[in-house]
Amino acid sequence: MPDLKLATETFDALYKNSLNPPGVTRAPYGKGEDMAHSLIHEIATSLNLDISVDFAGNQYVTLPGQDPNLPAVFIGSHMDTVPHGGNYDGAAGVIMGLTVLQHFRKIAWQPPQDITVMAIRAEEALWFSAPYIGSRMAFGRLPIEDYDTLERFDTGLSLGTHIGEAGFNIAALKSGKSWLTADHIRCFIEPHIEQGPTLVDAEVPVGIVTGIRGNLRYRDCKVHGVYGHAGAVPRESRSDALFAAVDFANTLERHWDDYDASGIDFVCTIGEFFTDPEHHGMTKIPGDVRFTMDIRSLDSKILISTHKALQKKAAQIASSRNVKIELGQFREAKPAIMNKKLREIFYRCAEKLDIAVMPISSGAGHDCATFANEGIPCAMIFVRNENGSHNPNEKMEMSDFGEATQLLTSFIESLD
Ligand SMILES: [Zn+2]
Repeated sequence: MPDLKLATETFDALYKNSLNPPGVTRAPYGKGEDMAHSLIHEIATSLNLDISVDFAGNQYVTLPGQDPNLPAVFIGSHMDTVPHGGNYDGAAGVIMGLTVLQHFRKIAWQPPQDITVMAIRAEEALWFSAPYIGSRMAFGRLPIEDYDTLERFDTGLSLGTHIGEAGFNIAALKSGKSWLTADHIRCFIEPHIEQGPTLVDAEVPVGIVTGIRGNLRYRDCKVHGVYGHAGAVPRESRSDALFAAVDFANTLERHWDDYDASGIDFVCTIGEFFTDPEHHGMTKIPGDVRFTMDIRSLDSKILISTHKALQKKAAQIASSRNVKIELGQFREAKPAIMNKKLREIFYRCAEKLDIAVMPISSGAGHDCATFANEGIPCAMIFVRNENGSHNPNEKMEMSDFGEATQLLTSFIESLD
């Protein structure tokens, strides 16, 4: 049974050193994330584990196996947080991995193959407006132009500048070099806190993830109409940007209705929706509306077909309402289905250990999706967590973390 003293102390140290009330802030390539990586380095050193750091600053802590040529088992998650976030989103996965390695050191078990805990950089999409940056860089999969075009929202500095200033190898990254290759990784396991209420509501401590929804994100949708007097312009002469935008939003929700009726996994959100405060007014027909759109599904075909249908519908609404609708650029993150065999091993171990588990899908994106898209067998386990994530009120009980850690330990021991 793994000892949780180190994990508890590490969570406390992380919290204390990245406290930024309310909550904690560990900005990618900022003070908080650097501190977290130093802490992981310290722990790995104290446990006499091998440490390496890639071109992008992702850190790898390895318990060497009997045969170093066999593909390694990877356990990983990210160390960055959103601004004023909680202490567990991301960090819990890395700390769980280290707790498992500490246990194997203590019982002097040498696994058949290397077991590597990966502490990943820059996962939170909010900072640079792009998901899974750290894990994609590890595989040389980040588009080269992103190093110059992605800017951290608070500093205004480019990703490349941040990486260079942090002392990592931007030249290697820009040449498209990869640090990791799929054939060196047997499987990737990401433990993470649950970010919704499912496990809390079901009173189950651990979830076995079925898949991670992919998404299409549109940050800059625009409807252009014509400003006009609220009383003087007759209906047929209007180009009302707002009613057109509302019409479009309704269309999106009708799509959702259809998917629900057919049992298709889908969610969508218009998180921002506004007229221009510089020009709008109570007695003015709105001439401009901007909005964002986020659509997610476990099925990439659904995402693509929805995109096409929305474009068509936008053109129809634009012509019937005499406005212009631009959905603008969108970013895509592909869905990732978790490996069935790995999930079965988790279920078997849970039964043996008498730990209650349940299947659960992940609405949020995770680094695990990067590995799955490389063709690497992947699994995720969720630890029950109250109050959601990305906020200071994340609440994971150490007893739940302990059960999940026990499950992960048993899983790794069961791999043949
Ligand atoms: Zn996370």
